[in-house]
Amino acid sequence: MSATHKTRMLILGSGPAGLSAAIYGARAGMEPILVQGIQPGGQLTTTTDVENYPGFRDVIQGPWLMEEMQAQAEHVGTKLVWDTITHVDLSQRPFRLTGDSGDLYEGDVLVIATGAQAKWLGLDSEEAMKGKGVSACATCDGFFYRGKKVAVIGGGNTAVEEALYLTNHSPDVTLIHRRDSLRAEKILQERLFKNERITVLWNKQVERFVGGGTPEGLVALELKDTHTGALSTLEVEGGFVAIGHHPATELFRGHLALDGDSYITVEPGSTRTSVPGVFACGDVMDKVYRQAVTAAGTGCMAALDAERFLAEAEFEDVAEAAE
Ligand SMILES: Cc1cc2nc3c(=O)[nH]c(=O)nc-3n(C[C@H](O)[C@H](O)[C@H](O)COP(=O)(O)OP(=O)(O)OC[C@H]3O[C@@H](n4cnc5c(N)ncnc54)[C@H](O)[C@@H]3O)c2cc1C
Repeated sequence: MSATHKTRMLILGSGPAGLSAAIYGARAGMEPILVQGIQPGGQLTTTTDVENYPGFRDVIQGPWLMEEMQAQAEHVGTKLVWDTITHVDLSQRPFRLTGDSGDLYEGDVLVIATGAQAKWLGLDSEEAMKGKGVSACATCDGFFYRGKKVAVIGGGNTAVEEALYLTNHSPDVTLIHRRDSLRAEKILQERLFKNERITVLWNKQVERFVGGGTPEGLVALELKDTHTGALSTLEVEGGFVAIGHHPATELFRGHLALDGDSYITVEPGSTRTSVPGVFACGDVMDKVYRQAVTAAGTGCMAALDAERFLAEAEFEDVAEAAE
């Protein structure tokens, strides 16, 4: 039998953004319900070492950090639900959302923190080597490759930015692109071509990420020339796939304003979306930073924005009733 869950503050997503919104929302007395989705704890549960989340002098583990955040959210009064939202009605408040379980969720305000997943090449060897030299985030993992040879795969802004960022750590960065020109903005291309630490390999695609050693790590990339089909090998210890991200926003298309890359549009400097009472935080609205700490920061902002929105709306309701 399906159930109806009612709350002042409904949150979608259990990554750093959703859980931070929950911690602030619960402490503001909004008794949040948080729907976790298919990846409880979000993207950080798929990684091991995290060295850039403030507050920990030693390297911590991603899954452990998310367990702690979840425990903290529950401790202050958040109700976590294991369900995935499949349908939304944002036409009036309370907003009505339906879960995969058939349950109905009603929220006076809604906080969306559904994240953005990195796009991958889809190779078996890529899957096998993730976390062992293959990454989709230079800001997150570049530091682990200090002094080592690394490669970035892609040809857009993200790939060029990742390659430039990696030169802070690596003296030898190869950008691998399957075409003979980049899609990245001209100014970025200029910086890339001027950087002596970066070599560009044109018309090449990765056929295989090659592992070796004990413990196993990436040792090389097997490449194929997209024109001639010729195979070659590039020895690297880090491979960064930088071919874009998929924000998890399909559910909201037609209900909320999205930008050209399908990220949720928010008013600058806030988490307010195009629908009053709906707030967005974390990677689903941020294509620039995409870090756990920025997701947590905007999660806090969303809870504060939501709390102010409700306080104003409730004040107006009382004033109207008194007239
Ligand atoms: C391998 C890897 C390593 C990383 N390492 C670092 C690092 O070292 N440091 C760092 O700062 N960042 C790192 N990041 C980036 C960081 O994980 C993200 O920036 C951060 O997790 C974004 O948080 P978020 O809460 O916005 O979204 P996510 O963590 O992506 O969480 C999204 C949540 O939304 C839920 N969801 C999606 N759709 C629905 C739905 N329909 N209904 C309900 N729930 C839904 C999912 O289940 C999930 O819980 C790494 C990322 C990856 C992939």
